[in-house]
Amino acid sequence: MNAPLIDPFQRAITYLRVSVTDRCDFRCVYCMSENMTFLPKKELLTLEELDRMCSTFVGLGVEKLRITGGEPLVRRDIMTFFQGMSRHLNSGALKELTLTTNGSQLARFAPDLAAAGVRRINVSLDTLDEAKFAEITRWGRLPQVLKGIDAAQKAGIRVKINAVALKGFNEDELFPLVDWCHERDMDLTFIEVMPMGDIGNENRLDQYWSLKDLRATLAERFTLIDLAERTGGPARYVQLQETGQKVGFITPLTHNFCESCNRVRITCTGEIYMCLGQEDMADLRAPLRDHPDDDAPLREAIRAAIAAKPKGHDFDYSRQKLDGQMSRHMSHTGG
Ligand code: SAM
Ligand code: SF4
Repeated sequence: MNAPLIDPFQRAITYLRVSVTDRCDFRCVYCMSENMTFLPKKELLTLEELDRMCSTFVGLGVEKLRITGGEPLVRRDIMTFFQGMSRHLNSGALKELTLTTNGSQLARFAPDLAAAGVRRINVSLDTLDEAKFAEITRWGRLPQVLKGIDAAQKAGIRVKINAVALKGFNEDELFPLVDWCHERDMDLTFIEVMPMGDIGNENRLDQYWSLKDLRATLAERFTLIDLAERTGGPARYVQLQETGQKVGFITPLTHNFCESCNRVRITCTGEIYMCLGQEDMADLRAPLRDHPDDDAPLREAIRAAIAAKPKGHDFDYSRQKLDGQMSRHMSHTGG
């Protein structure tokens, strides 16, 4: 009954990413339009439902749980959820509990996260320039995020910085970002911009900065040593020989990483997406909500969804049109 989740391509599903809200206190231009409409509250999984959902996955062999959104730390009482999940860390069933955050609320929550067993987090930060930060996030303020990063490090949490590579925006900050991360002992990962959701007037092809080009620029100053490390996702890592620091590249569009994919995603409304780049999904909220005292229907629905996990994604920029354009937002599925 509790056999691990193996998909039809013999990939073991051990990594779950869960979006706990579609709301956010920023409006990053590549992620949301300024006047986003958010879901009615009753559509969202409650904190109790989130706990049951995640615990069921842990019971089915999920070892790594990443909480995301929207901005996970703006969900009311979200610390209750983290505290609940720490029981799976204590039992040894869960190996890692982590989150991806914009950092705005970290100054407030870092000690509680550390106490709940969070050891590493990803903080999204595309620029170190205050004016550019306000421009790209629309509503965000850089000093608040920097304070949050300080608080996380002070609480003993390891921070990785995720920066979306944006042509004509942060190209000139490649080396300043690398140097800053080195000074603060933080890993750094660049993400290729992806075609997700309607974001208003921005033209995505204009924003697209190939990580192949970014890597070539990086190699002008550093010797890049490819690392064998794989996380089962779209990230590849190099070590900079001169500093020893690690730099990652997330390139879902130009590389095929699907054969080693170990993950599925749950939206804040309890849909399971088997692949970030495909529309295939299944509803897990109904089996969860309709059977408050019996997890068996939920387990069955999860198994049925995993049995339908597609082999790979369909993103393609190569023909200079947005093939594989996804209608949903990253904030819905969780990045
Ligand atoms: N609010 C949190 C944050 O910003 O870290 C978590 C959710 S956010 C959707 C997760 C990640 O997705 C962030 O690193 C963000 O930069 C990235 N992201 C959002 N829209 C993207 C897009 N269109 N292409 C590539 N990355 C994107
Ligand atoms: Fe909010 Fe994160 Fe999307 Fe920016 S990338 S708008 S911080 S969810």
